[in-house]
Amino acid sequence: MIDLHIHTTASDGSFSPSEIVKKATEIELKAIAITDHDTIAGVPEALAAARKYGLAVIPGVEIGVDFDSSDIHILGCFSEKTYSGMESYFDWILQKRDKRNQQLVYNLKRAGFNISLEQMHEKAAGGTPGRPHLATCLVELGYATTIKDAFDNILLRKDIFVHREKTAPADAIGEIIKNSGIPVFAHPVYEDRKGKFELTADALVDMGIMGIEVFHSDHTQEDTQKYLKYAQTNKLLITGGSDFHGENKEDAELGRPNVAKKYYHKLVERLGQGEA
Ligand code: AMP
Ligand code: FE
Ligand code: FE
Ligand code: ZN
Repeated sequence: MIDLHIHTTASDGSFSPSEIVKKATEIELKAIAITDHDTIAGVPEALAAARKYGLAVIPGVEIGVDFDSSDIHILGCFSEKTYSGMESYFDWILQKRDKRNQQLVYNLKRAGFNISLEQMHEKAAGGTPGRPHLATCLVELGYATTIKDAFDNILLRKDIFVHREKTAPADAIGEIIKNSGIPVFAHPVYEDRKGKFELTADALVDMGIMGIEVFHSDHTQEDTQKYLKYAQTNKLLITGGSDFHGENKEDAELGRPNVAKKYYHKLVERLGQGEA
């Protein structure tokens, strides 16, 4: 079994990279990709842990970009030799995140929520600080019952929500390719639900996207069939994964859905060619 979309404590997952590797081994996964939001900081620990267990780890990342007033996600898959070249790209993104977080905490305080930026950073524990960490604080402080409740009833409120300035998709795709990586359109179903799947996918193909996440925990069988067909028509690599966040995302389970070996081998083969 193979799972190519996993978050760790380096962003908004609740398990550390080593814990993910251990869990993956326990359920007999053969290969995983670590794909934290806007950081590769969890990758070295996962690679080191995986060596002990004989698990294959693909260094990866998930970059949120602005496209046609949607927040879409681009996954990057890399080889062990090239992924660290991405590091400096995330500086600007982290600066924008910091600004947004300050504004969010300000809005929360103004609306009567007794919460601080320090509390949020404590929850992020050195990883990419994001709204899920604020949501966790809001739950712990008794303002919300679950992470989802915190998003739906507090963080998405008009007087609280703050847009985060992001890079453009062509920029993220270009940067991934520059580092011999493979850019992948993540969980296309979220665009599909807005009636924008074809528009966005076609635009990303024009920008040089090389893969599409056909398998994902939020895809139905019909969704999967549709994206499989799209991948074949447009000669895209096929990836997939759980989008596991541990306790921070209730409906995702490590290793589900599975990605067939043939798709994984094609991906690895292409990564090898990039290195040459
Ligand atoms: P950020 O990158 O800081 O804007 O946070 C975005 C992350 O928050 C996403 O990647 C999800 O993990 C999580 N998220 C976004 N919307 C929701 C929601 N409605 N309920 C639960 N988690 C969410
Ligand atoms: Fe997330
Ligand atoms: Fe995502
Ligand atoms: Zn994700």
